[in-house]
Amino acid sequence: MDCTKGVVLLYEDLCEHWVRWCRDGGLTSLGVHKIALPGQGSVDALLEALDAPGGRRIIGMLEDAGITVEYELHALEWLLPRSLFEKNPTLFRVNEAGVRTADCNLCPSSAAALDMVSENACKLAKILGQSSHRYFFWMDDAVHAGCSCESCKAAGYTGADQGILIANAIARGVKAYDPAASAAYLAYADAKMLPTVRPADNVFLEFAPMDRDHAKPICDPAEERGVDYCRLLENLLTIFPA
Ligand SMILES: [Zn+2]
Repeated sequence: MDCTKGVVLLYEDLCEHWVRWCRDGGLTSLGVHKIALPGQGSVDALLEALDAPGGRRIIGMLEDAGITVEYELHALEWLLPRSLFEKNPTLFRVNEAGVRTADCNLCPSSAAALDMVSENACKLAKILGQSSHRYFFWMDDAVHAGCSCESCKAAGYTGADQGILIANAIARGVKAYDPAASAAYLAYADAKMLPTVRPADNVFLEFAPMDRDHAKPICDPAEERGVDYCRLLENLLTIFPA
């Protein structure tokens, strides 16, 4: 994979100045994010904003200037609509208290859930029509958000494994739209360990040590979370390319 240097911004923070700032700063890519909490429908909100008159104007200016624009979204509630819960609860997760719920994510032991995520990832890629081949359709922004159903427990799926299974389904979907597409596996929240499930060939690592102390270097030996994250990254790089 080519080396890129970029920044991730909220859609609302996009303005014309970013064309010059990216160029002057030597940035090659710009990721567009929408705030997403479970249940908020942020993908729909983004799509609405993009569809509005002029909604893609600055994105077009960036692309014309050679900046690759991509979208970084907590997309799972769009990829597997929660309205399906009533009819088909087994698509969704069982929480740590043993209750099946559509509050976030899904049951990765459900082939039907993964197939639907895959199909909808293909659809979402088509709607976004981005210039980048890299897709960042993340799981929900939540911890303790994995599935604890009997099947997932029997398979021994950790948070990282569940993240890989979902990333693999998304990777399959975006590849159906764009043969050169790859999909992010986001290493954060429940996925702060080495997965045992193998990522698909077109899944890449997105390492997000977001709750570390940002006032200190990540490699500072006095910063415990940073030390843990460095160890995690070293381990992840035995599976993923840098
Ligand atoms: Zn499950």
